[in-house]
Amino acid sequence: MPQTQPGVRVRFAPSPTGWLHVGGARTAYFNWLFARRHAGAFVLRVEDTDEARSSGASERAVLDDLRWLGLSWDEGPDVGGPHGPYRQSERLPLYRERADELLAAGRAFRCFCTDDELDQRRQAALAAGRPPHYDGRCRALAPADAEARACGGEPSSLRFAAPARDWTLRDHVRGEVTFPAGVVGDFVILRSSGLPTYNFACAVDDAAMRISHVIRAEEHLANTPRQLMLYDAFGEAPPQFAHVALILNRDRTKMSKRAGEAAVAVGDWRAAGYVPEAMLSYLALLGFHPGDDREVLTREELLEAFTLDRLGRSGSVFDAAKLQWMNAHWLHHASGEQLAAWLESGPGALPVGVADWRAEARRLLAPLAPGAREQLLEGVRGNAATLAELPGEVAVLVGGEPALEPEAAGSLEAPGARELCAALADALGSLAQWSGEGFKSTIQATGRQQGRKGRELFMPVRAALTGRTHGPELPLLAELLGQDRCIARLQDAARHTG
Ligand code: GLU
Repeated sequence: MPQTQPGVRVRFAPSPTGWLHVGGARTAYFNWLFARRHAGAFVLRVEDTDEARSSGASERAVLDDLRWLGLSWDEGPDVGGPHGPYRQSERLPLYRERADELLAAGRAFRCFCTDDELDQRRQAALAAGRPPHYDGRCRALAPADAEARACGGEPSSLRFAAPARDWTLRDHVRGEVTFPAGVVGDFVILRSSGLPTYNFACAVDDAAMRISHVIRAEEHLANTPRQLMLYDAFGEAPPQFAHVALILNRDRTKMSKRAGEAAVAVGDWRAAGYVPEAMLSYLALLGFHPGDDREVLTREELLEAFTLDRLGRSGSVFDAAKLQWMNAHWLHHASGEQLAAWLESGPGALPVGVADWRAEARRLLAPLAPGAREQLLEGVRGNAATLAELPGEVAVLVGGEPALEPEAAGSLEAPGARELCAALADALGSLAQWSGEGFKSTIQATGRQQGRKGRELFMPVRAALTGRTHGPELPLLAELLGQDRCIARLQDAARHTG
C-alpha cells in the first residue's frame, strides 16, 4: 500500500448551473482518488450562490452523474457532515459574519459605486492603458461616514482591501507561481444583495471545512491570489493547491460544446452507452501520467499510482475515438453480471429519447433464465463498443429471424451452401445431448461429408445462424441459441438460398 498522508480533506465544488462537464468529472475523480488513497474525506459542496443560473434540477443531475460514476462523497448536502450545511445558499449568515469581521478589522470597506460608474471608470482606465481595477475611491471614505450612508439605506457592497504585495503560490502542478502586487485590485466579497462572490464564499468555506488540498481546474489559477489574500486576512494557513491542466478541443482551445467536437456532458456519454469505468479511466489519463505506458487503469490501479506530482502541466486534447476504444475494452473484458448491471445503469433516468437501448435490453433479457442472461451478454460483448449496441447483438440471438447482412448473404449464395445448411440441420436434429462441443464435432463431420472446411464451412453456418459474418465463437453461439433455434435457422437458410 502507498504511504498515506494524515488529515487529507478535499472537496469537489460544482456550481449547479447546468450538467456535469467531463472536465468536472475528472476533477471530481482526482479529488476522490486523493481522498481515498490517503484515507481522507471527500466533501461535496454545492456552489449555488449565483441565484439566476443555479437550479435544484441541475444540482440533482450533477449529483446523479457523480453517483453513476461511483464517486461517493463522505460529506455533502444529501449526507450531511460536521461542517454543513454543504450548499452555499444555506450558508449566507456565515459569509455575512466573516465579511463583517473583515470590515471591523479594516481589511474590507463599504463601496457605494454603482455598476454604471464602475463600468465607465473601467473603460477610462483601459483607454488610458491602466489596469482596469477598482480605483480605490470608496477605500478612502472614513469608516464612520460609510457606516452612516449604509444606515441611511444607500446600497453598498463590501470590498476586500487588497494588500499591495506579491503573493507566491507553490502549486503541486504549476510549481511556484508569483502574482505581483497590483495584479488584483480591491475585489467585492459581498454584493449589495448580500450574496457572496465566488472567491469569498470559496475561501470562507475551504477554511471552515478544513480543506487540506484544493485540486481543481487550471482556469481557477487566476482566482487563487484573491483566495490567498483572504486566508491571510482570516489568519488561517491556506490549503495546498493543485491546478489541473485543461481538457482541450482539437484546436487546443478549452473543451466546449460546439459543432464537430465531442460531447462535453457526462450525461451525453452515459446516454450513448458508455460505462463509468471507461469514462473514468479515460479521463484520468487526460492529465495524469501513471509513470509507465499503461493505457487502461482501473480504480484500484489508479489508487496505487495517484500522486499530485504526476499530474501533467499541459492540456490534453479530448479524443472521442480513444474513449470509444476504452469503452469497448471495458465491455470486452466485463463479466455477464457486470454487463447486466451496467445495462441497468445505476441510479437516475436517462434523458428522454435515449432510454430506448436500455428498455430494449430489458425487454430482450427479461424472459431468459437466471444465468442464461449473463452467459448471453458475455457471448456477444465482443461485438459491442457501447452498451447501446448490446441489445442489437442480443436480438440477433434471442429475437426473431435476424436480418441478413450483405456479406453474410453472399456466403449463403455460394454453391453448395444450401446443401451444407440442410445437412447440418439434419445431423444436429439427431444429437441426443446439446452442447457447444457436440455442435463443433457435428459441423466437422458434416464438413467432411460435404468436402468443405475452414471459412467455406464456417462462414455459411455463421451466416445462417446470425445473418452476420462476425460474432461469438460457433460452439458458444450454438449454446446461446439452443438446439431448436439453430436447427430452425439452418433449415430456413437452406430454403432461402442456393
Ligand atoms: N464552483 C466552482 C466551479 O464549478 C468551483 C471552483 C473551485 O473548485 O474552487 O468551477
